[in-house]
Amino acid sequence: MSQQSLILARNSFDSIKALNPFFFLDYDGTLVPLITEPEKAFADEELKELLRKLYSKYRTFIVTGRSLSEMDALLGMKLNSIGWHGAMARVDGKLIYLMEDAEYYLKAIDSLMELQDYFVKKYPGLRMMDKNPGVLFLLWNNSEKQIVDLETELRGIAHERGLSVITGKRIIELIPPGTGKGNAVKKMRNGSPCVVTGDDNTDEDSFSKNEDCITIKVGAGKTTAKIRLDSVEEMREFLRYTVIS
Ligand SMILES: [Mg+2]
Repeated sequence: MSQQSLILARNSFDSIKALNPFFFLDYDGTLVPLITEPEKAFADEELKELLRKLYSKYRTFIVTGRSLSEMDALLGMKLNSIGWHGAMARVDGKLIYLMEDAEYYLKAIDSLMELQDYFVKKYPGLRMMDKNPGVLFLLWNNSEKQIVDLETELRGIAHERGLSVITGKRIIELIPPGTGKGNAVKKMRNGSPCVVTGDDNTDEDSFSKNEDCITIKVGAGKTTAKIRLDSVEEMREFLRYTVIS
């Protein structure tokens, strides 16, 4: 089953290879396994080498919910990237903001971080991280009931302040509206063919807004992607193929 998917991914890539496609690669859960302490999800040497090769052959972007500086630290190098769920990008060293009304939303996010004590008391085990711009709620230590309750509460707050809510695997994020990976990917590729990869709800936006591309989902769960690979290791196997073929 998965071997078939891998063959499909390779064949699909072969069909657009000559067109100099873009690669848009989600990081967490796609290139590296998800871990309970995401700040420690450093790239291993094999991945770094793979990315270097890919960047030298194709126009490649890391697409992440993380900030660009956080991403650079995990990779140990500065690659072209789309960060903060599409709020900003770096192309050949140049920063591009894709978010409007930045100042208002930065304040709205700051005021949420001030509620950290309240949230941690109410939902013990919860961790909050300032994503600048955005607040990430990490829910590895919380029960399903707590997660549902917190999501309800956060949706109310987001509605009041004009923020968007993103939910994923044991995460909830409040981010400025209008940001999203899909539009950022679309803007960067500007009509060129591409390969888009991801493992989570936030990547569905990339898939659905770039339907003409080769869209690859990693792991289980509902998706609009055309191809599903079972694991991070399978994704790497696919990428190894793209750099040698
Ligand atoms: Mg991911």
